[in-house]
Amino acid sequence: MKIAVFPGSFDPITIGHVDILKRSIPLFDKIIIAIGVNTQKKYLFPLEQRMAWIEKVFKDYKNVEVAHYQGLTINYCKERGAGYILRGIRSAADFEYEKTIAHLNHSMNTNLETILMLSPPEYSSISSTIVREIILGKGDVSMFVPSEIASEMKLSQ
Ligand code: ADP
Repeated sequence: MKIAVFPGSFDPITIGHVDILKRSIPLFDKIIIAIGVNTQKKYLFPLEQRMAWIEKVFKDYKNVEVAHYQGLTINYCKERGAGYILRGIRSAADFEYEKTIAHLNHSMNTNLETILMLSPPEYSSISSTIVREIILGKGDVSMFVPSEIASEMKLSQ
């Protein structure tokens, strides 16, 4: 089984994440969308809410699972029998950051490969950070988040 973990904060999930995921689904037998829980980090939305939104978006995809974990991503991958870490790349800055993490992860576990997927140009300026800013400013985020959950995000403002 080719199992990939797509780790992230997903605070909240955007159409950029969804694009990377939907394009990656044919490449793997299973993708685990795994929310990394960092007790030091402040999130805008609670873990349960972030998970529920992702579950709603991928409810019809039998080979996509939504989960959460604490600690190192490489340890979580081992625990879940995953051989691949999936990450999205929007820019050269993303690439530099992801390259460092991927090299570190590979040096700690040579069986684990990081797969970097490029975002299309039209999604390359979309980030959870921007979406959070718009929500906090009481703006409309519907063009940046999956349509199934856009109205719920407005309620959370
Ligand atoms: P993290 O806090 O780990 O960066 P995010 O939820 O912000 O978590 O991102 C998870 C992954 O999704 C990262 O690989 C990030 O580069 C990617 N990603 C985020 N937004 C986009 C986008 N608009 N297009 C492509 N990839 C994206």
